[in-house]
Amino acid sequence: MEALRSDLSLANAEVTRSATAPLVDPFDRAISYLRVSVTDRCDFRCTYCMAEHMEFLPKRDLLTLEELDRLCSAFIDLGVRKLRVTGGEPLVRRGIMDFFRAMSRHLGRGLEELTLTTNGSQLARFARELGDCGVRRVNVSLDTLDPDRFTQITRWGRLPQVMEGIAAAKAAGIRVKINTVALKGFNEDELFRLIDWSAGEDQDLTFIEVMPMGDMGEQERLGQYWPLSDLRRRIEERLTLVALSETSGGPARYFRVSETGQKIGFITPLTHNFCESCNRVRLTCTGELFMCLGQQNRADLRSPLRTSPDDSVLRGAIREAIAHKPRGHDFDYSRRRVAGKMDRFMSHTGG
Ligand code: SAM
Ligand code: SF4
Repeated sequence: MEALRSDLSLANAEVTRSATAPLVDPFDRAISYLRVSVTDRCDFRCTYCMAEHMEFLPKRDLLTLEELDRLCSAFIDLGVRKLRVTGGEPLVRRGIMDFFRAMSRHLGRGLEELTLTTNGSQLARFARELGDCGVRRVNVSLDTLDPDRFTQITRWGRLPQVMEGIAAAKAAGIRVKINTVALKGFNEDELFRLIDWSAGEDQDLTFIEVMPMGDMGEQERLGQYWPLSDLRRRIEERLTLVALSETSGGPARYFRVSETGQKIGFITPLTHNFCESCNRVRLTCTGELFMCLGQQNRADLRSPLRTSPDDSVLRGAIREAIAHKPRGHDFDYSRRRVAGKMDRFMSHTGG
């Protein structure tokens, strides 16, 4: 009888262990980073990200904040250590601070970092609360320091509002990283202005290659594409870049500028392949899980979420999805054509 009891408790322990064993994909990559898009809406219309007249999803298709909580919590149970909230513009989702507060309960209990990517327009309003929820770092997207150009590229944005947001984040003790999309003929002449400003503000700066997301017309895309290899060469004409070994498991590579001590990153999904160390998946605001930014593979997590209150069903669906994570993306701008193009907009998957 004693032996039977101990067999049963061993079996139970095994079931519990396998229910919460970390997520590992078929290429032996552990999935520890979830990016979750909480809305497809935005108060800007950046030309490389959205069409001017976007059709947004009907509200009923969106996961509720409670559903997003359940899903993100299931991922954290399964080994996700870093959660990045994105969109669309995450800070325009109604009640979003309730979600941040809810997620903050996982910090130090599995979750190591809670963060967000934002256009900064609402940061002045929310920075203090974000800080209170344990957010220590934020990525702010900013492509130009010229107010007119800013309105031109974002169509609806105002630069002073974003600058106020950045200042508020810093005042709340949140470290800011600037993300700048490299755009040919648009911000080429601001390269050193952006670098000098970031050094003076003690904030990291990352350049992003424009990616073929959304149906924007092939020529327009090729017209916007400024390869970071060229951008980097121009920086190195004036400054010394020392490669850092750190990686976030994503497409960014980081360098220290010897002259200023600042950190500069390059996100080059098109000129380099970063997929072998990919540790991330992306959840949309409708509960679709994209296993790769540059592939169509997706899994519906909304159905298991809504059909069963049992989290083991949800965890099973997540595991099944991760078992289909592809080896890598197929983006390619070479031979003057856009290959591997995705017909969905970045605001849908969350950049
Ligand atoms: N609204 C927030 C923001 O702008 O930071 C979060 C969502 S936005 C889709 C996330 C990031 O994706 C931003 O840094 C944006 O510049 C970038 N992005 C959007 N469309 C892109 C594209 N086609 N290629 C490269 N980056 C893009
Ligand atoms: Fe909005 Fe961000 Fe897309 Fe700009 S990049 S339109 S701010 S979601």
